[in-house]
Amino acid sequence: MLTASFVRECALKCADEGLAYLAIHCHGGERTVSFSSDDLASHERGYPALLDILAGPPVGGVVFARNAVAGDIWIGGGRRFSLECTDVVGRVQVRSFPHPTPVPTGIAEEWDRQVRLFGDAGQALLSQLKVGVVGAGGAGSLVNEYLSRLGVGHLVVVDPERLDPTNLPRVVGALLKDVRPWLTHRRMPGFIRSIGLRRRSSKVSIARRVALAASPDIIFEGVRGDISDASVLAHLIDCDFVFLAADTMQARLVTNALVHQYLIPGIQVGAKVDVDRETGQVHDVFSAVRHLVPGESCLWCNQLINPARLAEEATNPEQLRRQRYIDEISAPSVITLNAVAAAHAVNDFLFAVTGLATDVELRWRKFHPLTDSVVSEVPRRDANCSECAGRLGAGPLLRMPVRGN
Ligand SMILES: [Zn+2]
Ligand SMILES: [Zn+2]
Repeated sequence: MLTASFVRECALKCADEGLAYLAIHCHGGERTVSFSSDDLASHERGYPALLDILAGPPVGGVVFARNAVAGDIWIGGGRRFSLECTDVVGRVQVRSFPHPTPVPTGIAEEWDRQVRLFGDAGQALLSQLKVGVVGAGGAGSLVNEYLSRLGVGHLVVVDPERLDPTNLPRVVGALLKDVRPWLTHRRMPGFIRSIGLRRRSSKVSIARRVALAASPDIIFEGVRGDISDASVLAHLIDCDFVFLAADTMQARLVTNALVHQYLIPGIQVGAKVDVDRETGQVHDVFSAVRHLVPGESCLWCNQLINPARLAEEATNPEQLRRQRYIDEISAPSVITLNAVAAAHAVNDFLFAVTGLATDVELRWRKFHPLTDSVVSEVPRRDANCSECAGRLGAGPLLRMPVRGN
């Protein structure tokens, strides 16, 4: 039994730190749980006063059975609601409901072969997910295609750039006409070429075309912008999952912060060809898949966010954009390296969210085609990290590392 003084002490501590107050307890049972009439009576007696003490954040009760969760959440203005479902995030995700959800009927015929693997419930779950994709270039365009063909219901794809002719071999769904080849031909007068350059298709518009062709009912939000802008990031904070497929340090920093601060699991995908600029010798080639689990695995802890490059990107975005443009043209890149990373990442996502993989260790993997080897490692974790530990679950209480508000 929670004594009044204990509850009051906890509520004051929450008020000090700007936290919500949730009282959590367990009932027996497996797949069904609900509050007892005593539970509900105590909420009605106590929660209005706790809301006054907290002055802002919600107050509530959550009750668990082995595979079921129910919640009674109170917010300001006398509003109160029941939790529809609860996600436990980790390397694998568990979505729990208060009662067994009715098995959906009427799943469209085209999903038949997938339903044989994930079941109707798994397919229905995919259709309820909102997934973010940061970057719609080589790797991101593949992730976008896979997710839309799998039947994910809602995609948010973010990328600031327009298509360039050197992207054509890697961006799936890109057509020659997207780069306006006639207008931008080098024999055209300068002013026509500059009109042509401005009218090249954005990478998010190509992603939209691909997603809608694959899945006409999908909700597709294409955001042509940089995740480092607060207004762009705002589209992502209620995603269920996020893929990081952009390779600026800013994109890494912001997506990593999003994962930990808003408890959104994610995966970074990427490919790298390490070539000696002087000799042209290829040192290393790999495709990387790095799971970003809230509070557990972090790009900052693993030295994958270079502070010097980050500062450079932040202080001189214009020069950097030019620099990056040059780098991108000269950096080697091929579709198959991106495909290895993208396919593994989406595969891992799929098995993690549909509940088929229940017991997998959190490991980051690199696929090395030169040596035909796979190297996997447990990511390092610093208990005092300002990013994964400092931001964990803070939501809107902490400022995200973005421009604007
Ligand atoms: Zn109870
Ligand atoms: Zn960290």
